[in-house]
Amino acid sequence: MGWIALLVAFVLGLSACNSFGTVRPSQAPASPGAGPPIAVVTTFSILADIARVVGGDRVIVANLVGPGQDTHTFQPSPSDAGALARADLTIEHGLGFDVWLEKLFVASGSRARRIVATAGIEPFRPEHRTDGAAQKVDEHDAEVDPHVWHDPRLVGQIALTIAEALSARDPANAATYRERANRYVTELNQLDAWIVTRVETVPPSRRALVTNHDSLGYFARRYGFRVVATVLGGVSTEASEPSAAAVAEVIRDIRSAAVPAIFAENVSNPRILARVAQEAGVRVAPPLYTDALDAPGGRADTYVKMMRYNVDVIVEALAAP
Ligand SMILES: [Zn+2]
Repeated sequence: MGWIALLVAFVLGLSACNSFGTVRPSQAPASPGAGPPIAVVTTFSILADIARVVGGDRVIVANLVGPGQDTHTFQPSPSDAGALARADLTIEHGLGFDVWLEKLFVASGSRARRIVATAGIEPFRPEHRTDGAAQKVDEHDAEVDPHVWHDPRLVGQIALTIAEALSARDPANAATYRERANRYVTELNQLDAWIVTRVETVPPSRRALVTNHDSLGYFARRYGFRVVATVLGGVSTEASEPSAAAVAEVIRDIRSAAVPAIFAENVSNPRILARVAQEAGVRVAPPLYTDALDAPGGRADTYVKMMRYNVDVIVEALAAP
């Protein structure tokens, strides 16, 4: 029996129960504002946080790629299909970040409504960071950067998209979802203004980023940083180990940009990055939360806390002599 067949058998076996702990919508009371919460599946931790902020106690969120885990390389399990089978609404990120959802969704037999959180957001295509032969690709072949959440204004757009999807599912509470999303947008605008102020303490010549994979393009574009180089040379962590020539080029780029520190990430192994730092004679800053939140109770267990933590790490690492 193939993987999909096993999965289908597993899901059918589970279909009688409901891990969201709710009654099915068909059994829901008709009175406006009440009724069971909406069973939402999100693909990764940052979307789960946004969905909980917007949905409040009207949603029960089951999230697939947990805190500290890497969405680019995620391998779904049968329990993930079970969550999808029981969902009313599935929120995926899009832009090539969570492409594994497609096959899983079909295999799960889910009848949930599917929405793409980044719908309507103009994706950023990073410029080629190095002059290596492998980087010389046509503009149209350039990879789309999925890491839109590093610009808080775009997270505000995602929150409004989620509010619309929840409103369509549960019109009686539409005003509540929109109000919660608008309040969050206000908080995100305050976060954005705080980041602008924090970044002003870094001299413009030092606003230069080197990370493991190309995760901070939207952050750099918004706050006036240059992405000097990335160890893995792309917007995904799926790339195999960089060649010796590519590593040598990253080291040259770091030296010529005279950056004082480079940044590890919570979702990827820092081994090669540490070697690069040593050879280039720069510090490795504490890991940034780039593609996933911290575990609940941790210092970066919400999107807003994650951004504040990251910005403090970046500013302190680059402002220091
Ligand atoms: Zn990433």
